[in-house]
Amino acid sequence: MSWTSERYQKIVEWVNKHEYENFIDEDEIHSILEKTKNASKEEVRAIIAKAKQNASNGAMLSPYETAVLLNNSHDELWEEIFDAATWVKTEVYGDRMVLFSPLYISSPCVNNCKYCGFAESNTEHNKKILREEELKNEVTSMLDMGQKRLVAVYGEHPKSDHNFIAQSVRTIYGVKKGNLSMRRVNINAAPLFEDEYKIVHNEGIGTFQVFQETYHRQTYKENHPENTLKGIYDWRVFALHRALKAGLDDVAIGALLGLYDYKFEILGLLFHAMSLEKYFGIGPHTISFPRIKKASGANNDDMPYALDDDEFLRAIAIIRLMCPFTGTILTAREEPELRNKAIQRCGISQMDAGTNIEIGGYSKDNKIDELNKQQFQIGDHRCIDEFVINVMKKDRIPSFCTSCYREGRTGDHFMPYAKNAKIKYLCLPNAILTLKEYLLDYGSEEARNLGENVIIPKYLKELEQNLPHIAEKVRTLITAMENGERDCHL
Ligand code: SAM
Ligand code: SF4
Repeated sequence: MSWTSERYQKIVEWVNKHEYENFIDEDEIHSILEKTKNASKEEVRAIIAKAKQNASNGAMLSPYETAVLLNNSHDELWEEIFDAATWVKTEVYGDRMVLFSPLYISSPCVNNCKYCGFAESNTEHNKKILREEELKNEVTSMLDMGQKRLVAVYGEHPKSDHNFIAQSVRTIYGVKKGNLSMRRVNINAAPLFEDEYKIVHNEGIGTFQVFQETYHRQTYKENHPENTLKGIYDWRVFALHRALKAGLDDVAIGALLGLYDYKFEILGLLFHAMSLEKYFGIGPHTISFPRIKKASGANNDDMPYALDDDEFLRAIAIIRLMCPFTGTILTAREEPELRNKAIQRCGISQMDAGTNIEIGGYSKDNKIDELNKQQFQIGDHRCIDEFVINVMKKDRIPSFCTSCYREGRTGDHFMPYAKNAKIKYLCLPNAILTLKEYLLDYGSEEARNLGENVIIPKYLKELEQNLPHIAEKVRTLITAMENGERDCHL
């Protein structure tokens, strides 16, 4: 029997006897969306106020409340929703924007997702798996760009199974450039069995991401052929329940927006978060909401449920209000202009920068975007330095922080900090320290000028006003870094 059919059979066995309760009731979601269509201004405002209170009490909005915001029909209230999203983000995480880069490691895939360039049936695509030396070169190039944290991305294939993933994580952490190395490796890969998650977890990974793509069963079926591994909805929808059961600390959910009604998907994300809370007492570490982009061999141009930019920005702001303690990620799939608006208005807490999604793309000289060598088309090609400058110009502080993960503040040790809106007191000092380190080692003149003269002094002052003893510690560490010390964090 082939690897795929053997795995398929094992997955069906798991699905037939799993212990988890279905958390997506489509009739209920449709009915909530129907019932909330004509909410009054007062009701919308009351929910905005509640979302702001939730920033420090660890609660999420209910599905009904979230749907009222999604269906808001009072034009003048959208600005209030955007302002509240920005306020909540600042209240929980402060002004920092965490930066990471994706590292695509393998593209061969046994699945046939309709929208994806890596689909098995897509013969236009140059599929590739990085060999160990090539992977080391990629990591070295990313370290040379100033990156300290990455998300490793894999197609689902016998050659990139859990053992391969574990080995690649070991290789990534093993790359040393002077005293530099990657400090946090997150994973975006196909769902695993518990024993497989444990093998990957043993390598010291950060967050494990699995996006459900769509929570709507019929749409899921239309986009993921049923005879493929990914075609088994229940296997995927409980992927992160298995991960937490296996002992992983942090998991991340996401929906691929454009496949089905985005309002339905956002409620799907919320029910997913609620189910993780119910079984494991911790919600998702981050939520992603990629929009479908052009991909080789896929017909993604006229998706009936595609969202326009305005709807997308509103959706992101509402996700922030719905789950205040969860990180939100907006990737380089989007153009700089939209990403900039999201930084300023939607309370985004993490973005990728300097992104290249070609397999082997970071270490290649000729960095031309070729659709048949990558999963989809990206919209933001700015290098890390440009991105860092841009974030600072938007009055936010870029952060390369990995300290929670390395200090053991993960899973249920992390959540209380985020749920009580205390995490910002760690995020801000660590953002200052990691920005300082970036500026010393990689910053262009423009980045250094802005960082050293405007942004670091501004945030040090803020820290001084709120937490003078921490500010003093940060000043001492800054001096140590100026004298050559590195990797200073709290
Ligand atoms: N193969 C693994 C899986 O499917 O779980 C890893 C994930 S895949 C390499 C990363 C994510 O990219 C998918 O979960 C999907 O949400 C997203 N994606 C796939 N095709 C896309 C497209 N055309 N535009 C935007 N995002 C896409
Ligand atoms: Fe494979 Fe993932 Fe692409 Fe689907 S989305 S074809 S599973 S890489």
